[in-house]
Amino acid sequence: MLQHTTDGRVYEISQMISAKRIAARVEALGAEISDSFEGTDRLVVIGLLRGSFVFIADLIREISLPCEVDFLEASSYGNTTTSSREVRILKDLRGNIGGRDVLVVEDIVDTGHTISQVMEFLRSRGPRRIECCAMLDKPSRREVDVHAKWTGFEIPDRFVVGYGLDFAQNHRNLPYIGTVRFLDSSEEER
Ligand code: 5GP
Ligand code: MG
Ligand code: MG
Repeated sequence: MLQHTTDGRVYEISQMISAKRIAARVEALGAEISDSFEGTDRLVVIGLLRGSFVFIADLIREISLPCEVDFLEASSYGNTTTSSREVRILKDLRGNIGGRDVLVVEDIVDTGHTISQVMEFLRSRGPRRIECCAMLDKPSRREVDVHAKWTGFEIPDRFVVGYGLDFAQNHRNLPYIGTVRFLDSSEEER
């Protein structure tokens, strides 16, 4: 279906990963995470806003352990081409994670700056154990040597939307993950 930006550029979204494939993968991730944290007192599952809100909602329902949910909002600024990126915390956690078992849930690991700085920030609070689960991974774009312990899907270097991910705050509600292609130029959005 054709879409328009506010300044009139025309683009198309094509499905890359169906809702059915996502659901099957989320179920498997939930089982692996439940095994890995088995015996935990209570897992703290932290969603990075806003992109992970759909994924975390589905994932926690596939985790068969007692857990609580908290959210953190981070934003990265600076020059993306020089890889000098500063990640700022816009909204901190409500709860304390000192001594706790923590799972950080991210939408996508791209250059890796966001997740590496967020994990460092959270580690400084002294969790007992902290791991990351990312829905998507774009390893070809990596600038920081970081990887999530669990990844839903590895994808090529394409800009994707849906299942929580936006393009200019749009399309987060798509039940599938799709790629954005501009029809008025050969360049893809990034
Ligand atoms: P990183 O710091 O790893 O470069 O960037 C991670 C963040 O960039 C993600 O949490 C997400 O907000 C954004 N991002 C990276 N790639 C994409 C993409 O293909 N689509 C969308 N919607 N956001 C992306
Ligand atoms: Mg994000
Ligand atoms: Mg975004």
